[in-house]
Amino acid sequence: MSAEDLHCSFGPVISMPGALHSVPPGTPCDRHPKRLAVNRLQGETDSFGAEYLCLCQRCIDEIRARNVELREIEQYCEWHRGMGLDVRPHRDFEEGSAGRLYSVCAACRRQESERLTEELADDLREWDA
Ligand SMILES: [Zn+2]
Ligand SMILES: [Zn+2]
Repeated sequence: MSAEDLHCSFGPVISMPGALHSVPPGTPCDRHPKRLAVNRLQGETDSFGAEYLCLCQRCIDEIRARNVELREIEQYCEWHRGMGLDVRPHRDFEEGSAGRLYSVCAACRRQESERLTEELADDLREWDA
């Protein structure tokens, strides 16, 4: 496997941006060539595949710290078309695991999971009948 192969997926991926993947031993950090990467961070992801960054522990810590701060900032949510907290890339369950990613706030994600839980409960009741 060449170094280039570590930076993109071969086809669609199910995991979300921000997910950490393993790196082969000896892979350098993309931002600190002298340090060894400990993880690959999934970056831009669309229905065709994902890009990855090979990062050392310091970079991972930095990004984690920034993610925590991002939760407190209001950003545009594509689902309710307004500002919301903890906006993250999210897939519409009905479009399947390779569907497009939307920027979705925490409240909309919670609503979706509640709706899915209800639908599942309905399905289970039908099976019981
Ligand atoms: Zn680094
Ligand atoms: Zn929303």
